[in-house]
Amino acid sequence: MKLDGMKRYGNDEIVDAVVIGTGAGGAPILARLARAGLRVVALEAGRNTTPEDYPADESAADIYWLRERLSAGETPEAFGANNSGSGVGGSTLHWGAFCPRVDPRDLRIRSEFGVSENWPFGYEELLPYYERVEAFIGVSGPRPYPWDPARRYPLEPVLRNASAQMMQRACDALGVRATDAPAAVVSQTFAYPGADVRPACINCGYCHQGCRIGAKTSMDVTYLPVAVRAGAEIRPDAFVHGFELDANGKIAAVLYRRDGVDERQRCANVFLCAGAVETPRLLLHTGIGNSSGQVGRNYMCHVATQIWGLFEDEMRPNKGYPSSLITEDFMRPADADFAGGYLVQSLGIVPATLGQNLARSGMWGDALVDYLQRYNHVGGMGINGECVSSPKNYLELSDETDETGVRKPKIYFSTGPNEQNMARHGIALMTKLWEAVGASRLTTISRNAHTIGTCRMGDDASDSVVDDAGRSHDVENLWICDNSVFPSSLAANPALTIMALGLRTAETFLRSEPRAPRLGNEPLVPPTVPVTA
Ligand SMILES: Cc1cc2nc3c(=O)[nH]c(=O)nc-3n(C[C@H](O)[C@H](O)[C@H](O)COP(=O)(O)OP(=O)(O)OC[C@H]3O[C@@H](n4cnc5c(N)ncnc54)[C@H](O)[C@@H]3O)c2cc1C
Ligand code: SF4
Repeated sequence: MKLDGMKRYGNDEIVDAVVIGTGAGGAPILARLARAGLRVVALEAGRNTTPEDYPADESAADIYWLRERLSAGETPEAFGANNSGSGVGGSTLHWGAFCPRVDPRDLRIRSEFGVSENWPFGYEELLPYYERVEAFIGVSGPRPYPWDPARRYPLEPVLRNASAQMMQRACDALGVRATDAPAAVVSQTFAYPGADVRPACINCGYCHQGCRIGAKTSMDVTYLPVAVRAGAEIRPDAFVHGFELDANGKIAAVLYRRDGVDERQRCANVFLCAGAVETPRLLLHTGIGNSSGQVGRNYMCHVATQIWGLFEDEMRPNKGYPSSLITEDFMRPADADFAGGYLVQSLGIVPATLGQNLARSGMWGDALVDYLQRYNHVGGMGINGECVSSPKNYLELSDETDETGVRKPKIYFSTGPNEQNMARHGIALMTKLWEAVGASRLTTISRNAHTIGTCRMGDDASDSVVDDAGRSHDVENLWICDNSVFPSSLAANPALTIMALGLRTAETFLRSEPRAPRLGNEPLVPPTVPVTA
């Protein structure tokens, strides 16, 4: 994004807030605080890019967090491009932009099933923030939404790709409700007042490599330009590795390294938004915020099993916005032998990623070559489902350090009976659906997605890391907002909820900030439908 001409602050200036990380959690906070008149600096470990930098070539894409993470447990997770991004915009640079809201029942999963944790608030608390985020980032989707008829998406749905059209036929055949998916992709030229104009999606299908035209919502084309215009400074290539505390235990300065040089930004408050792996890593490394012993605990990642098949029709799975159909009919299936539920989404895929996924699932040699030769006839769908927290799944610091001198994170993950039963249920359903429309050579890819839950929020300081607004129970001027604060995984893909939490955390902070009246309290976006052209 364009950073020329932005306001700059001195390291010795005590800025009102430092925001660490510019992804789904950090960017809305940066924008909201800057719009309220605060002096804010974002420190981002990744580089700065512009949409034109993204190659329409999966082997050349370079927007991932690729520092080594050690993976352990019975079903160790694959890190890298699968679940973490890096750069000004964080993981939203290469996310899929599939953005359902939470099913309200998921926020009370412990009360319903006795597993994971309840959220400290209900859906009514998130709803106004969801509506503001959707209006601002430009979410396309159906009106009405079958599972929530009152919901209105601001933009018309994006075009359906071939997998979506085939999945619709399959759902019709089996009596499953399906509809256009909520997608943070603008289906028409879109300009929210005060934000940049974004052109309509051209259905190229390269969302996971970074959208070259800015039709896909990423933080660098939405919240971050608003933040910079309001006076925020963003420092790319700035890796945070320490904090300096004052005599009262408050953070007085953030220590970071840029171009090999250690620097120190003084500040009054810190918003830690580095994601569910790097946030606990930094807290464990610096030894703060962990009186509960919960930092790094409750690591979760969604059940994200996919089924691919071959069709007589030409599918061309690289074309079109990949995830353009959804069903939420399985959020609480009547025959479930598991807690929670899952949604199903249609999938598109670019060729090398398909090859890698098939190889990882055990397909090799001639079988793999033969499958890939039929690439233009491949279609897929996948689930995204609840993962319950378990003491077996956690993050700790390993004995090895990386080039930053900080110990590498080691993440233990074992899929439990709940995830296994859910995956089995999803496979049976997706198999029936694909068979109903004549797919052959069905292939299951067992996988997990997203990094969630290592600094959970809660009312009880002995059992959680932050309060219900994201403020550390231990360090008065430290706030956390990213994937890490989720008390349970929820079945919905996480980014929309993180952005909503970002605005909520920022506004709770502003209300608690004694200087807030002087600083003003202008909402980033009013809760109205945006101007489109
Ligand atoms: C391939 C892929 C597809 C996805 N698709 C979807 C989807 O379709 N829908 C959905 O809802 N979600 C999706 N997600 C997940 C979604 O992108 C993340 O859940 C979300 O972006 C997480 O937000 P966050 O703020 O926790 O972290 P991030 O967005 O990852 O941002 C964290 C930022 O902090 C920076 N950082 C980390 N450590 C430091 C440090 N020490 N110093 C300075 N900066 C640091 C990182 O470089 C990064 O930019 C997808 C993710 C991936 C990887
Ligand atoms: S399909 Fe649309 S949103 Fe995705 S990269 Fe292409 S233009 Fe961007």
